[in-house]
Parts: sequence; C-alpha cells; structure tokens
Amino acid sequence: MIVILGGGPAGKSAALHLVHSGRKVRLIESSGIGGQCLHYGCMMVCGLTDVARTLNTSRNLFGLGVLGNPPELDFPGLMRGMRRVQEKIERVLDEETRSAGVEVAYGREGRLQGGKVFLGNEELEAEAVIAATGSRPSLPEVDGINSRGVFTAHTLHTMEDLPEKILIIGGGIMAAEFAYIFRCFGSEVEILARSGFLKYMDPSLRDLAKKELEGVVIREGVQLSSIYGGSHGISVETRTRDGSSPILEADTLFVAAGLVPRSESLEGVAKGPIGEVVVNERMETNIPGVYACGDVTGPPCLTPIARHEGVVAAENILGRPAIMDYRFFPQYMSLANEFGFCSVESDTDISVSVPGPAGPGSFWSVPKNDTGLTKVSFEPEDGRITGIFTAAPAGGVITSYVAYMMQQGYSVHDFERFREVHPAADGVYWLMRYASARLREMQMQRNGDHGT
Ligand SMILES: Cc1cc2nc3c(=O)[nH]c(=O)nc-3n(C[C@H](O)[C@H](O)[C@H](O)COP(=O)(O)OP(=O)(O)OC[C@H]3O[C@@H](n4cnc5c(N)ncnc54)[C@H](O)[C@@H]3O)c2cc1C
Repeated sequence: MIVILGGGPAGKSAALHLVHSGRKVRLIESSGIGGQCLHYGCMMVCGLTDVARTLNTSRNLFGLGVLGNPPELDFPGLMRGMRRVQEKIERVLDEETRSAGVEVAYGREGRLQGGKVFLGNEELEAEAVIAATGSRPSLPEVDGINSRGVFTAHTLHTMEDLPEKILIIGGGIMAAEFAYIFRCFGSEVEILARSGFLKYMDPSLRDLAKKELEGVVIREGVQLSSIYGGSHGISVETRTRDGSSPILEADTLFVAAGLVPRSESLEGVAKGPIGEVVVNERMETNIPGVYACGDVTGPPCLTPIARHEGVVAAENILGRPAIMDYRFFPQYMSLANEFGFCSVESDTDISVSVPGPAGPGSFWSVPKNDTGLTKVSFEPEDGRITGIFTAAPAGGVITSYVAYMMQQGYSVHDFERFREVHPAADGVYWLMRYASARLREMQMQRNGDHGT
C-alpha cells in the first residue's frame, strides 16, 4: 500500500498514476479533493473572472449598438452559485479517483513522523509515502492581520458583501487577478506591492496588465506596519520607499501575497527556510521511501508543476527512474485578456511583437486599441523559439501549445507550414511567419555581404 497525504493536484495525480500501474493507494485528504486549485485558487479565480469579464464586456458594448441596462452584480448570489459549481466539480473528482481504484479517506489530517505515517493514533502500513499537503496563503507578520475585514483566497467565501473599497496586499499575479475581479465588480481597488508590481513579468505584458487594470491604484514599495480593524472598516499603517507613513482606509483588506508550504504535519523530513520539504529531482526526501511533491516543496506554486511532480514521485516509486524538469512550464494570468508566457534563458535571442489581431473576443476591443499583444523571441542563427508572451482572448491555450513546441525544439521557420483557423484572435502564427521571413532576409543579406 502506498499512502498519499493530500488530495490536491499533486496527490491526486500521483494516486491515479500509481493505481493505473496496478498499485494499491490510500489517499488521505483532510478537507475536499481538488485542493486549493479547486476550492480557493485556479477554479475560483476562473469563476469570478468569467463574471468580471462579462460585466466589463457588457459595459464596453453599451453605446456600440447594444441597448438596455448593463447587468449588475448580486455578490452573495454569485458566491453561492460558485460554491455549487465547485461542489459539483468536487463530486466528479471524487468519483474519478475512487472509480480508478484509489481508497480515499476524508476528514482527518494524516501525519508523518520520521518514516512512519499516522491517521490519528493509528499507524498505517505503507511501503512508500507521498507528502502532498500543499500550501496556504502567506500572511504578513503585522499586528492586526487577523482583524475582521481581512480576507485571503481561503476565506473569500465568507465575504458577505461586495467591498466598496478593497486594499489588495501583494504585487504578483494573484494580486493582479483579484484587483481585476473586484474592479469589474464595482469596488474601488488599491494594490499595495512591497516591491515592484508584476516585477518578474515581461515588461510588455506588465505594461498591458496595468492598462487592463485601469482605475486600480497601484502603489509600489509599500510595507505594512499594522492593521486596525473595526466595525467601520480597516485602517492600514504603511511605510513607503520615500520614508512617509501614510494610513490607508478601506472596508476590506485582501491578502494575495503568495503561498507558503503547509508542512507542519510532516515531522522528520528535512525542510528549508519557509518550511518547504527539501526534495531531490526524483522528489525523494531525506527519508528513504518518503517522497514529497507539489506546493509543499516550495515555489513555484502552480498546478501543472504539482501534477508533474506527483507523476515523477509515482514513477520513482514504481521503480522507473524519472526526474523533474522545470523548463518549459507556461504561466498564466487572467485579466480582460488571458495572459500566457513561457521563456528560456538566452543571451543571444531577439524579439518581435505586434498588437493582437481583431477576431473572436477582440473585435470590439479595436475602438479602445485594446486587442492585447503577442511577442515572440527566437535565436537569430536558426530561428529556434525561446519565448512566447501573449495577451489575447485565448492566450492561455495558445501559450501551452507554443511552450510545447519550444520544448520540442521548433523554430519560427516551422510556422511556414502551420495551418490556422480564421478568424482567430491569435497573433502567434502571423508573427512567427514574419520572424521567419525576416531571418531569411537577414541570412540572404549576410550571404550577399560575403559575396555568395
Ligand atoms: C488564489 C489562487 C490562485 C491560483 N491560481 C493558479 C493558476 O492560475 N494557475 C496555477 O497553475 N496555479 C494557481 N494556483 C496555485 C495552485 O492552486 C497550487 O499550485 C496547487 O493547488 C498545488 O497543488 P498541491 O496538490 O501541491 O497542493 P494543494 O492544492 O494545496 O492541496 C493540498 C491538499 O492537502 C490537504 N492536506 C493538507 N495537509 C494534510 C494532511 N496533513 N493530511 C491530509 N490532507 C492534508 C489539503 O486539504 C489540500 O486539499 C493558485 C492558488 C491560489 C491560492
């Protein structure tokens, strides 16, 4: 029997991989299957963003031949409806996992002590253990962080009313996504970023993100000093880069400052500075027979990485040596457009970019010059693709496929044979062909210069 702690993307993918290879698996999940991805993360953001975009789109179409009042939001009704959809997905995941043959135990935390695994006081028989206990929102260590009116993605479902004004703590993708959601819902939104906003993102995408967050105040270089919560709202004492200490007022504070590993139930395994379980590239911990995968091993905290790590752990348990390769994982951010990006390091690559074309989902963005963008990077010598950066109505899906092509070593020249649908708000194939033609031109000029 192989015991897995945690039924999020990492634990579930490991469990399915093992049972499909004929092994017996017991999956212990203290809460609901699907983990954060379903209950507090990706799916919740999808549900809220779909509604935010609908509201935004209907406001944009107003005056462009669409009559009637733009729709309004019933926030409590939306939250109830979202919960029902999440429960339905949870039932599907439960059914999928059980019917594959995984034994699932809900409702109690498993515990690892050295190489032994416990459920309550009962020690479980296990030939191998996979720790996939995930992560939770990182909370700044300031007075008042537990005040009324302070929320995270894990407590958002307890928010009863739409905030009039919301302060969002964090400068990353999660902060940007929630800022877009609440802005479209009609709240006044301020982002407080400790350093730079979206500082790890390609500058062209970052600039576009700021444009799509029109109306959101973005403050960079802001540290929290303390929070005072009361029945009338929240006051936040801050320190800024220029040495001032403004006090900001709002009715709600939302912390979206990243995730920290949830590893306190795992005793005896080696851990790093933020409590992340230390693993090698085979997802093995320092204890023989104990593996860890997903967010509990530390950032990057992303569902596809968690799933792949789960499969790598399972493969090694099955005696089929596998190592985790972190290259070519595309990333995603949902604002008005879907932002997708993936790149590999190169000192020699060059880039070209274009605004997104008009097409399904972007036609009515033309009047506001808001059709997104596509940028690709490639090696000038052979055209090998080194980066894709896109903001488009289907930018996420496009990016996944281009990232796979990058992994397979495709070049911009391969797009000469690419067959596209039309219409599509997809600038990638066009840009790749343009890049290919430019490279061939440059090649010919070089050959000409050399007299050939
Ligand atoms: C707001 C938000 C937005 C996000 N958006 C994206 C996105 O757009 N794209 C993306 O790729 N990722 C996104 N993520 C990250 C993604 O959700 C995580 O990377 C992913 O869920 C990690 O999977 P996991 O299985 O490692 O951990 P988790 O999903 O955290 O699952 C761990 C599971 O273990 C259970 N558990 C914990 N301790 C125990 C124990 N001792 N015994 C038994 N069970 C236990 C928990 O109940 C939980 O179900 C987002 C996260 C958040 C919070």
